Amino acid sequence: MKTTYEIAVFEGDGIGPEIMAPTVDLLLTLAEPASYALRFVDAPAGAAHYARTGESFPTASMDTARGADAILLSAMGLPDVRYPDGTEISPQIDLRKALTLFAGVRPVTIRPGHPTPLATDKPVDFVLIRESTEGLFHTQGRGEVTEDEARETLLITRAISEPLFKFAFDLAKSRKAAGRGPGKVTCVDKANVFRAFAFFREMFDAEAAKHPDIAADHAYVDATALWMVERPWSFDVMVTENMFGDILSDLGAGLMGGLGLAPSADIGHDHAVFQPCHGSAPDIAGQGVANPMAMILSAAMMLEWLGGRHDAPELTRDGVRLREAVEAVITAGTVRSRDLGGTDGTAAVAAAVKAALA
Ligand code: NAD
Repeated sequence: MKTTYEIAVFEGDGIGPEIMAPTVDLLLTLAEPASYALRFVDAPAGAAHYARTGESFPTASMDTARGADAILLSAMGLPDVRYPDGTEISPQIDLRKALTLFAGVRPVTIRPGHPTPLATDKPVDFVLIRESTEGLFHTQGRGEVTEDEARETLLITRAISEPLFKFAFDLAKSRKAAGRGPGKVTCVDKANVFRAFAFFREMFDAEAAKHPDIAADHAYVDATALWMVERPWSFDVMVTENMFGDILSDLGAGLMGGLGLAPSADIGHDHAVFQPCHGSAPDIAGQGVANPMAMILSAAMMLEWLGGRHDAPELTRDGVRLREAVEAVITAGTVRSRDLGGTDGTAAVAAAVKAALA
């Protein structure tokens, strides 16, 4: 009897369905001969769903997400579809809050031969962890604006920071065990200026003291932006506040050849969402030209996470296989989507990944 894992699928808006379909196909291909099975449950939500039904995130879809073993999400939101107050439909942010997904995991991987604006072929492999539930996003949508002043509040709590730092050190440990990093965590903050970040750093240091086998250091966020360009290979695991992480993760995506290659995960105590860093790309939707690699790499992260969580090495191994298949296609460079300077469409890229898996 196969162990079945239920995956909630938010196929989303714009290019979402186009990149989700080949990703689910690849996951089914991996699971077919394996001792585990994956059951995909559709969770309708998003801008197009709102335009059709007047509902952006049905309760049934939230229930599906809550009940699933993992959540796979493409991208949601369309600039032309908005609530009456003018804001965009973004169930992915509602999910992050509702499921307390505090650890936004953004791997930055550049293998020799991969596209990068860096003038070196030196491999880069680090993970940026962006706290995703508080920080400067705490008053999102509730900031006070008068005619003469505007205020937003930055919130750092012990309840979120302590598990966030534990997550960062555990990740550095598992990366070290897998031969992917020296075992180091860098706390990225602005502790020289703000008391909130001195508090953040204090809690980081307390967690660091529990992990003598993992190195720990600090960096100010402005210097970090410089070093991510000058010597990105010197980082292993970085952990930072929500807004700093928001900005630095796009810098990371730029280093690794663009949004079409940048995967992510939003992880909490009991739930996790896996989704590409990019949005719904309405400018290219429906043309079959979207790069599915960031979506596929996010699915690979999901398999690795499920493997660790359920002590199922086969899932972990298949996650690594899927990631390495994508990396092999990028390195070979014979099949390339438009965003990477090629002419191949979504289906051709997905087929190349499938061939690399075989
Ligand atoms: P975007 O990431 O959708 O697109 C930015 C640019 O990158 C576009 O030129 C697009 O064509 C290109 N691009 C993005 N993904 C690509 C891919 N896989 N292959 C090839 N090219 C790709 O950002 P945007 O235009 O600012 O946002 C569009 C919509 O997406 C907005 O409604 C926004 O709110 C939403 N959005 C959603 C998420 C999410 O669901 N997590 C994240 C960001 C933006």
